[in-house]
Amino acid sequence: MAKRDFYEVLGVAKGASEDEIKKAYRKLAMKYHPDRNPNDKTAEEKFKEVKEAYEVLSDDNKRQAYDRFGHAGVDPNGMGGMGGGMGGDPFGSVFGDIFGDIFGGGMGGMGGMGGRGASQAYRGSDLRYNLEISLEEAAKGCQKTIRVPAWNKCSSCGGSGAKKGTSPTTCTTCNGQGQVRMQQGFIQVHQTCPHCHGTGKTIKEPCPDCHGQGYTRTNKTLEVSIPKGIDEGMRIRSAGNGEPGQNGGPAGDLFVEIHIKHHPVFTRDDDDLHCEIPISFGKAALGGDIEVPTLDGKVSFHVPTGTQTGRTFRLKGKGIKGVHSYHPGDLFCHVRVETPVNLTEEEKNLLRKFEELIAKDAKHSPQHKSWMDKLKDLFK
Ligand SMILES: [Zn+2]
Ligand SMILES: [Zn+2]
Repeated sequence: MAKRDFYEVLGVAKGASEDEIKKAYRKLAMKYHPDRNPNDKTAEEKFKEVKEAYEVLSDDNKRQAYDRFGHAGVDPNGMGGMGGGMGGDPFGSVFGDIFGDIFGGGMGGMGGMGGRGASQAYRGSDLRYNLEISLEEAAKGCQKTIRVPAWNKCSSCGGSGAKKGTSPTTCTTCNGQGQVRMQQGFIQVHQTCPHCHGTGKTIKEPCPDCHGQGYTRTNKTLEVSIPKGIDEGMRIRSAGNGEPGQNGGPAGDLFVEIHIKHHPVFTRDDDDLHCEIPISFGKAALGGDIEVPTLDGKVSFHVPTGTQTGRTFRLKGKGIKGVHSYHPGDLFCHVRVETPVNLTEEEKNLLRKFEELIAKDAKHSPQHKSWMDKLKDLFK
């Protein structure tokens, strides 16, 4: 099947901005996400297509190569996300991109076996480690030490799983093939041998130290570099730190999944931050300087005279610079005018006097006035 143009797949123009591409991707990925379209092959294909297009167009280098050379310009082996970019640092690659839950609901499909037939090498299962970090740590990046399970070859049996002085024997059910043939009506199917579970061997006397597993489980510590701007649900892969493989199969991978703790002041929306700023009734009316929190400490901000509740001020660049972003997002401060409470008699009297004064002229309360006009129209 000929590949569709990546821009066409995402439904954006050739010169589309980074933001437009991201938006288009989010929309389509939501629509075709396997969680929303269970057992829908077409949706699954679409989802893969959209993801592949996004992987190329969201990466400056890949996009340039694609613009110049088309599909030939982007290495097909680099696709599919899991392969590329590992380099020497086991925590080098961040993916999960803007969709934390792409691999959600278990690691289905990523483990699996090393091919059918006589060779019964199984890849070890992938492991997930849920790591909770603060919003500040997510914004600025951090180093974390985590404790994860580790498997050592059992020293008593040398990894064979058989008791010292004995050795595993060939499974008689499958003759060492690891598979058995079953007849189901007209169809003959191959099944993993129920006796040896695919290993092709049986252990008469299991090693008491590892209970026949060949491995003993311990713990080890790993250093994880959390990159700046990481977002909820993103995963960092540590290759080969999952469960060990069977019969010489490779170990699985460890995925560190990021969860960001609730922040008392800020809520995050992609690269932007939002916060609510309560200001006094007097400050709102008269205007003046207020202190606004940012992730880099407090900044002073001037609110104009006559500021109303619900007004939003945008502090450019005071948000978070996401892992895949070129610029930091903004901080949106939502003003809430606070009604004074617990007033003394004196304060109440001053307010009553004030009320009398402003009630004489509707220009002081334009919202109230327009609301009254609407009511008049309604009951005319
Ligand atoms: Zn052992
Ligand atoms: Zn067997």
